[in-house]
Amino acid sequence: MNVYDGWRIASLLEHHGFVRTDAIPDADIIILNTCAVRAKATDKVFSALGRIRRAKKPNALFGIVGCVARESGADAFRRIPDLNFVLGPQSYHKLPQILENPDSRLLNIDLGGLEKFDELPQMERSPRVAYIPIQEGCNHVCTYCIVPYTRGREISRSFESVMAETLHAAKTGAIEICFLGQNVNGYKFIDENGTLYRLSDLIRETAKIPEIMRIRFTSSYPTEMTDDLIDMFSIEPKLLPFLNMPIQSGSQNILTRMNRPYSLELYTDIIRKLKIARPDIQISSDFIVGFPGETDSDFEQTMEIAKQIKYINSYSFKYSPRPHTAAALMQDQIPENIKAARLAKLDTYLNEVQREFNEGCIDKTLSCLLEGTDKTGRHLVYRTPFMQQCIVEYRDNAPELTDIKITAANKASLRGKFID
Ligand code: SAH
Repeated sequence: MNVYDGWRIASLLEHHGFVRTDAIPDADIIILNTCAVRAKATDKVFSALGRIRRAKKPNALFGIVGCVARESGADAFRRIPDLNFVLGPQSYHKLPQILENPDSRLLNIDLGGLEKFDELPQMERSPRVAYIPIQEGCNHVCTYCIVPYTRGREISRSFESVMAETLHAAKTGAIEICFLGQNVNGYKFIDENGTLYRLSDLIRETAKIPEIMRIRFTSSYPTEMTDDLIDMFSIEPKLLPFLNMPIQSGSQNILTRMNRPYSLELYTDIIRKLKIARPDIQISSDFIVGFPGETDSDFEQTMEIAKQIKYINSYSFKYSPRPHTAAALMQDQIPENIKAARLAKLDTYLNEVQREFNEGCIDKTLSCLLEGTDKTGRHLVYRTPFMQQCIVEYRDNAPELTDIKITAANKASLRGKFID
């Protein structure tokens, strides 16, 4: 979501005649786009702001956008007095106001819903993988999560507006579409005739666009995984055989305390149905360990579900208490050393499975999408349909989407060669 917001901000500034630079001392405007999901990310923001402040030109405009901006509000000006603007994740389209009035200060952390999509200029060129947000905010009030506070209540964009942006992306360079939402599979839009549009409708319509060869979406809430969407995995070959569906914990008791009221049976049943629809489908998850009240036995149940599902790639985090959330006020917080030990144990196992899956790809041929070059410039980086990185020897005019034979693998990536 932040990558998308970053592109929109960059493209808005390009419209105003700015060009990109990586050098802070050269910049006329510096914007830090921020994430507030865990405390660590938020803490990094203020130290980064301090560094930027010392390195920038004295009269360069300087501000923060995104969820930390929304969370800190006017307090950010108190902490960093030379900030010029503080704009929330739904108000960064107000940025031109500060360009017109560079001597003022701009604070806007309103939850404007979908306003930004209407006001921002279209991007001139789409990246090869176009992220398209189809909703803002979230209505699931998970007790650990700050998102409902920073991004507000869930609102789905209109079918028409999403398809217009998707088509524009396809005509300006996109090959893959990734639909985005905090609760992406809960997308629901009813038009003026009363017709209901769901994520499956967006996928079906997008698959008709000849330039688009791959479609995916993230991230999915288990109880919103309806049969029409599961069916898409068997009907629509452009939909990649890969799904991020966070389980967070394998303990029913902890899921209840997280206010994620789905049963483990329901979750595993969805995966069973998905495998029938698409036998090669692979699943990824997010996990939180050390949620308040998590016992050793609760944690072992998380290990059990990980062993049962064999997620090929996951994100796992230590629980981080966040402002405005119910879990931060729970009494039975888990000590840091226990959280760390549980995370290490889970990560070791998840990494092992990921390595096994990667090694199992050796000698297979996978259709891969070009991402760019590696740091040395001597290799090309591609993405497989399962979102693995695949490294190939550099060649000029390399194909954007091509079959690659996998020759080697480790935990983090694959190596491969072109077929010809
Ligand atoms: N709706 C998104 C949530 C985005 S946050 C989703 O379902 O993925 C991404 C992940 O961060 C969450 O899935 C969760 O695993 C993790 N997370 C959110 N709040 C957290 C917290 N307070 N502490 C630790 N991890 C958290």
